[in-house]
Amino acid sequence: MATTEKTLADLFLENLKDTYSAEKQIVRALSKMTKAAASRELAQAFETHRGETETQIERLEQVFEMMGKAARTKTCQAMQGLIEEANEVAQEFKGSGALDAALVAAAQEVEHYEIARYGSLKSWAQELGMDDAVKLLDQTLEEEKKTDKLLTKFAEKQANREAA
Ligand code: FE
Ligand code: FE
Ligand code: FE
Repeated sequence: MATTEKTLADLFLENLKDTYSAEKQIVRALSKMTKAAASRELAQAFETHRGETETQIERLEQVFEMMGKAARTKTCQAMQGLIEEANEVAQEFKGSGALDAALVAAAQEVEHYEIARYGSLKSWAQELGMDDAVKLLDQTLEEEKKTDKLLTKFAEKQANREAA
């Protein structure tokens, strides 16, 4: 049984702040990864998703507004860790044939985190009867899934082979 006053709406708002923080970190990370990528195709994929991420940030701001709350970040420590690891591996594999394979894998860790986040946010918004928020969160969820699939394809077609 619940013993405190925290509600699903509180949980939703906390995770919205976490995701807002994560996306802001991701915009910066994708700029770095675009510069780091060896292949033009991968750089282009990162750049495209950076643009999408800017729109995703705006969608989150719209959801805050729907809740009558100011858009605020709560530092996503998981994303800080994932980005730290991405930077490390990029440094370690710089100049090697395995660089792009490493960058793709790091980017997919980020996408998987986001897919988990937006999946939860979407189902909580559904439960809370926030239909407009569900639509916005679903748009972003689909972009994250599409990006993840694109990265898998790129890895299988090119990056992993070059690394081998
Ligand atoms: Fe995102
Ligand atoms: Fe987080
Ligand atoms: Fe993403």
